[in-house]
This record gives sequence, structure tokens and C-alpha cells, in this order.
Amino acid sequence: MQFRITPNNTSWQGICNWQYSELGYDSLPPDTTRWNAREAFFTFASLDRAVFGYEEFEVTDGQIFFRNQTDTFDVTIESASYNGNNRGQHNADGWQTCYEFVVCRRVVQGTPARNNTQPAPECQEISWCEPSWEIDDGSEGDNGWWPGGDQGGGGSNYIPPPPPQCPPTQNRGLNAVPGCPPRGWNPGNYNPPQPPEPIDSILAKSARAVNNALDSIFQLSLSSGHEWGFAIVKRNDSIYAVNIRTDNDSNEVIRRRFLYLQPGETAIGDAHTHSDPDSTGRSSPSGNDIEGLRGFKNQKNYFRFIEIGHIRYALVVENPDSAQVFFSDITGKYDLHQSHYNLASSDSAAYSNWRLATERTLLQLIGSSSSSGIAVYKSNNSAKTSFVKVN
Ligand SMILES: [Zn+2]
Repeated sequence: MQFRITPNNTSWQGICNWQYSELGYDSLPPDTTRWNAREAFFTFASLDRAVFGYEEFEVTDGQIFFRNQTDTFDVTIESASYNGNNRGQHNADGWQTCYEFVVCRRVVQGTPARNNTQPAPECQEISWCEPSWEIDDGSEGDNGWWPGGDQGGGGSNYIPPPPPQCPPTQNRGLNAVPGCPPRGWNPGNYNPPQPPEPIDSILAKSARAVNNALDSIFQLSLSSGHEWGFAIVKRNDSIYAVNIRTDNDSNEVIRRRFLYLQPGETAIGDAHTHSDPDSTGRSSPSGNDIEGLRGFKNQKNYFRFIEIGHIRYALVVENPDSAQVFFSDITGKYDLHQSHYNLASSDSAAYSNWRLATERTLLQLIGSSSSSGIAVYKSNNSAKTSFVKVN
């Protein structure tokens, strides 16, 4: 939508991004009464930023920046600033948004300008500002001046023109159909944000990293009869165990409680053992183990390995919002511990298979991860480095 405002009248017309070339590429003399293609690009780029978050664009029509059509530019929106926003006359809120565009001509085709080191890319910074107004009738709500209301000097019921009929493929050049791909620009992101890492992959990676440490404290646990544990930290791309303790230490199994992180380290989880010479006598994660996650309920993907020798369990804070509700519904500090123990003791497998009884009870207490926000994973390979979710 572009507006033309004169002292006597305001008119507007709609414009689609593929129509940029109809505005002309001229820049001289500056004609402030209408747009050119470059201004259309800046407007659509700023909209793309506001709506979709794109900050990088590949401009495939070099004419937009007064070069050959076959030149390519890489454009980055470096910053945006706002000023104004005072309610003025006639119920109009007005403000101005200014953008800093960094425009670099690609000197090696196919390589984004930011990756060109030889020779140095040709870059320029261009500030571009757009005024915005919001006009209403002074009452609450959006019942004012916009399509559907009174459209001022423009037409009403604006229908954009149909996009051009495009050939299946075409190259840039003089015979190209205007507005057809490759169009003037593409929102691009040469460093796209990584999608969040899936929990099973975080667990697999962490289990591989602390596998030996966890297997060895399990052996210590079996021979000593004590519970052992440690905290798991991440620094750059390495994951490792720190603060290995036993409940025979004067500080009990403290895992993270007295953990002093070194610079660059983040605590991402912890681990401890449940041992018994008989594998069916080993407890699955206990009520205390769930309760212990209360302190980490806001840390998405914080995990706790419970090592029982032949199986490795993991409790994970999958959804902090749900976990917060889950823990706030459990008022007494020992509720989880006590209910888990009591329920497991009355399970039909309590005397034949304590592991099974405690696992069933655990799942009963935590319920589906989609409501509790706590996910239960269980290893499914002999190395205990691969996990499946069980709730
Ligand atoms: Zn435990």
C-alpha cells in the first residue's frame, strides 16, 4: 500500500512486491512524490522484518541499487529505531521508523557478500525512514480509517492485480518477464537459526559423553552399597561430568547443590545410581528424583539420568510452563516420595520385580508429559546411549 499525501488530498494505491519494477529504477532527481523500485524494496523488506523476522535479503535485480540487472546484492537490516508516537490532531498516532540497511554488492556470484573475503565486498550503508500513522475515530478499537471504513481519497474495495503469467523458468536479462522469478529479491538467511535440538538427541549426546563415568560410578555403587552421582555440564561443544560424589560423603549425594561452575560452563543435567545386586531389585526413578527436579522446573531440557546398570532412565523438564503447574499442585515436600513408595509397594509386582513396580508407579505419578511437562525416557540399546520416551 503506498500513500501520496499533498496539502489538499491523500490518495493511496496497493502494490504487490512483484510490481516493484513498474515503479522505475530512477533515482535522480529525487522525486519525493512517488516511489521507485528501491523504496518498494525497502518497504517490503521492513515489513518482512516486522512480520517474519527476516533481516537478510538477496537482491537479484541489481537495478534496484542502480547497477546491472544481473548484479546481486546482499542486504542486511542492521537496526531499526522508532520515534514519535504522540497522539496528535485528528486522533492520529504518528511515528517514524528508521532502518539502517547495509547493502553489499556480490563480487563472487553464488557466494553471499558477507562470506567474500577476497576481494572485499563493496558495501554501503543506507538509512531509510518510513512514517506511520494510525488513525481512528477517538474511541477504543480499530473502527476507523482503513479498508472496511472510510478510505479517504483512494478507491474502495481495492483488489490487487493478478500476478503476471510466468514461464516455468527464466534467466535474468532483458527478455525476462517483469515480476517473474527470479524476482527482485528473496528474504534470505545465510545463518538460519537452528531448530531446537530434540530431547532424545540431547540425551544421546550427553549419555555418550558421560557413559564411562556413569558406568564406573554404577560399579562403585554396587561394590560400596552407596549411591553415587555427579553433575553434567556443557562448555562450548563438550559435555562432561563434574562434582562426583557419594551419599557416603559427608555432603551426601549432592550432585549440583554445591556445584561451582567454571567460566563458560552451564549445568545441563545430573546423574545418579540406583544399585542392587539383583537387577529386578533396582528402583526406577523415585518420587525423590521427581521432586528433585522442582528446582530445575524452569530450565527447559534439564535432565536427570538414573543409572540402574542394565537400563538408564532420564527425567527431563520438557515444558517448563506445565512443569510449574505440576509442581505447584504437589504441596508437601515429601508427597512425591511417600506416594511413590506407597503406590509401588502395593503394585502387584512389588515383591517379584521392584524395578517394574517402581517404573509403573513413576509413570502413574507423572502422567503424560503433555500435561505434567516432565518426560520420562528409557535407554533402548545395550550401550545405554539411545533413548525412547515412555510417557
Ligand atoms: Zn534416585
